[in-house]
Amino acid sequence: MSTYDLVIIGTGPGGYVCAIRAAQLGLKTAVVEKREAHGGTCLNVGCIPSKALLHASHLYEEAAHHFGAFGIEVGTPKIDLQKMLAFKDEAIAGNTKGVEFLLKKNKIDAHRGTGRILAAGKVEVTADDGTKTTLETKSIVVATGSEVVSLPGITIDEKRIVSSTGALDLEQVPGHLVLIGGGVIGLELGSVWRRLGAKVTVIEYLDRILAGIDADTAKQFQRILAKQGMTFKLSSKVTAATATDAGVTLQVEPAKGGEAETIEADVVLVAVGRRPYTDGLGLEEVGVAKDEKGRVAIDAHYATNVPGIYAIGDVTTGPMLAHKAEDEGVALAEMLAGKGGHVNYGVIPNVVYTYPEVAAVGATEEDLKAQGIAYNVGKFPFTANGRAKANLMTDGFVKILADAKTDRVLGAHIVGPEAGNLIHEIAVAMEFGASSEDVARTCHAHPTLAEAVKEAALAVEKRALHM
Ligand SMILES: Cc1cc2nc3c(=O)[nH]c(=O)nc-3n(C[C@H](O)[C@H](O)[C@H](O)COP(=O)(O)OP(=O)(O)OC[C@H]3O[C@@H](n4cnc5c(N)ncnc54)[C@H](O)[C@@H]3O)c2cc1C
Repeated sequence: MSTYDLVIIGTGPGGYVCAIRAAQLGLKTAVVEKREAHGGTCLNVGCIPSKALLHASHLYEEAAHHFGAFGIEVGTPKIDLQKMLAFKDEAIAGNTKGVEFLLKKNKIDAHRGTGRILAAGKVEVTADDGTKTTLETKSIVVATGSEVVSLPGITIDEKRIVSSTGALDLEQVPGHLVLIGGGVIGLELGSVWRRLGAKVTVIEYLDRILAGIDADTAKQFQRILAKQGMTFKLSSKVTAATATDAGVTLQVEPAKGGEAETIEADVVLVAVGRRPYTDGLGLEEVGVAKDEKGRVAIDAHYATNVPGIYAIGDVTTGPMLAHKAEDEGVALAEMLAGKGGHVNYGVIPNVVYTYPEVAAVGATEEDLKAQGIAYNVGKFPFTANGRAKANLMTDGFVKILADAKTDRVLGAHIVGPEAGNLIHEIAVAMEFGASSEDVARTCHAHPTLAEAVKEAALAVEKRALHM
């Protein structure tokens, strides 16, 4: 029996980062992972493979449709899908091996197998061959992530009706891809296959896409995606999906009920969300409480109701994002080592990695209205940004929301080129409690896309210079 300060179940971004920070702080740490490779959903079937395919498909679309505008003639590029998927697999392997290296470098014991909590301080690991080992530990961290959900009556077969995992490995470009759900994962993977030649239809229950993102920003983004060729059926629900060898027949009704229509698809991607994954962990037996959404219930210190058992990442409260899981891992490791760990949940960036990207941090206009907070809006379009014009990347805008009384930046929403990088300037500004004037007075290099952020900050006081 091995004895540790800390045993972490799951080596996704939450678990492996928690392990590294704990080891840095001198805690004797072990991880338990049942997947063949470390890195969790994010590295194996999430962030990394989706971004690899987004990158490759974007390059294809640029070569196929946009190089000519820059005076580059390449003829008609051809897709070698098998090679593109192999490139994506290499990106996964490179990253998961990186995590393996980091665990070794930090002298973290990695136990391969399924972890089950026997009691506070005891984790049983069952290896693939059935061998059981018990680890003794002062603290246990549940970092077991999340899994795909489907809709009633729709069975994911990962061939015709796929989850995000199947959508990362389609054997051929579908003629017609239907997305059920207009959220980030669906729109990213839908963009990949649209660029590669699929007709893409998005069926969304709500009357808008990207629930939770600033409504004005989501509307602009939808317009851009529609211009790129995606079709949207909002306020609609799929009531049945029947797969055959030839394709899938969908029954679609207005969300409020009404006459159903039939839609034929070659492949259907179900992207309606994810749920916390706690199967076989033994939480019920040990008495760990969950909330009404099945998430492991925790307090402000990531502690469950059972002393010595903690939870971080997708399996517990908060946005299902890799960087949120990572930051929670760091904060918890620091607390367990007697330091003051902290995550500022008001400043967690959220990015959609399409082209153009969508990025957000802090409050939306809807949030501020709901809270009765008076605010000013500064908005600047990329059509007025020199670099964006020169690069033919003028879709979108930067929008900054600042407190009407204090001018403190409360949120920012960007749809446009490099939005996912640009948002971090505002994230840092918000961490430092900056005003929009602070951002506006910061000298920004010319010509950069970041000048649009400065101009949006100037626009809060209606003094943008290039608009
Ligand atoms: C297609 C897709 C794209 C995404 N893109 C992004 C993105 O661009 N940016 C972003 O921030 N987020 C993205 N996400 C979300 C991101 O992947 C998750 O938020 C993140 O992986 C959560 O990390 P985690 O450590 O909580 O859990 P996970 O990454 O899910 O890891 C949990 C690990 O625990 C293991 N495990 C579970 N139970 C046991 C057990 N009993 N014993 C041993 N091991 C166990 C699992 O095998 C898994 O490896 C994406 C998700 C998907 C599906």
